[in-house]
Amino acid sequence: LRAENTRHQFHPMTHPMMSAEHPPQIITHGDGCYVTDLDGNRLVDGVGGLWNVNVGHNRAEVKQAIVEQMDRISYYSSFSGSATAPSIELSAKVCEMAAEEEITKVMFSANGSDAVETALKLARQYWHLVGQPTRTKFLSLKQGYHGVHFGGLSVNGAPYYRNAYEPLLGGCFQIDSPWTYRNPYSEDPEELADAVITQIERTIQAQGSQTVAAFIAEPVQGAGGVIVPPASFWPKLRAVLDKYEVLLISDEVVTGFGRSGSMFGARGWGVKPDIMCLAKGISSGYVPLGATALNKRVADAWYKEFSETGIIMHGYTSTGHPVGCAAALACLDIVEQEDLPGNAAKMGARLLEGLKPLAERCSIVGEVRGKGLMVGLDMVSDKDARSPMDPGNGIVERIAGYAREEGAIVRPAGSVIILSPPLVIQEPEIDIIVDALTKACDRYDA
Ligand code: PMP
Repeated sequence: LRAENTRHQFHPMTHPMMSAEHPPQIITHGDGCYVTDLDGNRLVDGVGGLWNVNVGHNRAEVKQAIVEQMDRISYYSSFSGSATAPSIELSAKVCEMAAEEEITKVMFSANGSDAVETALKLARQYWHLVGQPTRTKFLSLKQGYHGVHFGGLSVNGAPYYRNAYEPLLGGCFQIDSPWTYRNPYSEDPEELADAVITQIERTIQAQGSQTVAAFIAEPVQGAGGVIVPPASFWPKLRAVLDKYEVLLISDEVVTGFGRSGSMFGARGWGVKPDIMCLAKGISSGYVPLGATALNKRVADAWYKEFSETGIIMHGYTSTGHPVGCAAALACLDIVEQEDLPGNAAKMGARLLEGLKPLAERCSIVGEVRGKGLMVGLDMVSDKDARSPMDPGNGIVERIAGYAREEGAIVRPAGSVIILSPPLVIQEPEIDIIVDALTKACDRYDA
């Protein structure tokens, strides 16, 4: 298998010529927070698949829901007015769980990139429907990650994802992220939040508010390196967008359904977005599924009149896939019954506290930060200058490799080591991750 792996399979975000030093990991089994690899090693899954296996691996309830739905019907479309029971039930479930956000409509898709693309397109159509078709531009944050489709890539905040695929959508502007560790403004969280809000307001004014459709951001930036904004940032963001009537799209692909310690990431900041992008945790990776949730303000625009302009000319063959929706219903029951947002907050605090000493003790750990079960170790080549470690020198990968030898899978992403274990994780497994990374860092310094 190892030799065959890259023969015909193109791997995302990886050079096709994987080096012998970093052979691809091949996983054969999973249960709860553990996975087993091809060599029979049983490891704590500190990555949770790809921050998505929130209910843990191999849950009987989810498998049963999938099989029962397949026994009824594996696929029929939820398209042009037809539907299946699971998609109807899941749309109601998501609206019930996001009642606080006044979410009243959901459109399903197959993954996070689809959920973002749907959000951007529906935001544009919303402005058409309410008679302001000039509002077409999108604002977002540097270090933001919004998937790989052309729209999502255009609002992506990291040039290295975009460069090879340009030209992208015009009229997209990335503003500095409110990142206390590295920013051109201030280390004081309040001053920093205000400085970034000022940049956003200036951009809206310079473009003309009548041209701006929406602002898209992650409540906690994930792939960009687990960047937690100051607590006042999101409320201030909502206020400035309200001032100019710009829509707020919360990309909750990672944070949705509990990962950052609240049911939705924006809720953790006390903010109600207009549109939410959901994927990953909705179906915990058992099946691919994405969802775009609209609040009443946005959704109601489609109900003004029965006209051609109100037709949603967007949707996928897999929209509302019955097996995906059935699996998601089973996953969301677990999220609620086992209070996974609460457990993420509690276990995340333990993980953060356990790892924080590494920023003092290890020569190449600059900062340990996180919220809930999103934790990042910022690896640096110079602690005082806070210079990010060059991913090309292989050191971040080496630390991840050492941690793996100590029993935990962690994710090297650029210069940051990311931790995002299943939300069902308990203290013993948190401690294994902390112990593995501590030993890995000590081994590097020795
Ligand atoms: N948005 C965010 C915030 C993400 O983290 C991701 C994936 N990591 C996506 C969108 C894209 O999701 P997918 O990979 O399922 O297309």
